Amino acid sequence: MGLQHDLLERGARAVLDLRAADRGGDRGRPGQAQVEQIHTKVRERDQTKGLDLDNPMVARCPKCSAQTSGGKFCPECGATLRPRDACGQCGAKMAPAAKFCPECGAKRAG
Ligand SMILES: [Zn+2]
Ligand SMILES: [Zn+2]
Repeated sequence: MGLQHDLLERGARAVLDLRAADRGGDRGRPGQAQVEQIHTKVRERDQTKGLDLDNPMVARCPKCSAQTSGGKFCPECGATLRPRDACGQCGAKMAPAAKFCPECGAKRAG
């Protein structure tokens, strides 16, 4: 994500530099509004990139961040995938408000 952002930002700067050069320097400096608009677009693109906007409920592997299809193990690294409402100790389902596991008594993590 960071790399993508850097590339986009560098691209935006390069465009501005080219335009400034085209118009012969001082007279052709890009307007502040233009700069801000480009930066806004860069930011928008960066922040929506890689987010699961369509499938917010699909779990990502906590270890390697691989996209999973909701199974019990990560298809990339084999890490155990637990839903957010499961006990970190025994995997039992926990109520969203529960602070301790009803099965094994473990304190809820996070
Ligand atoms: Zn993984
Ligand atoms: Zn438990």
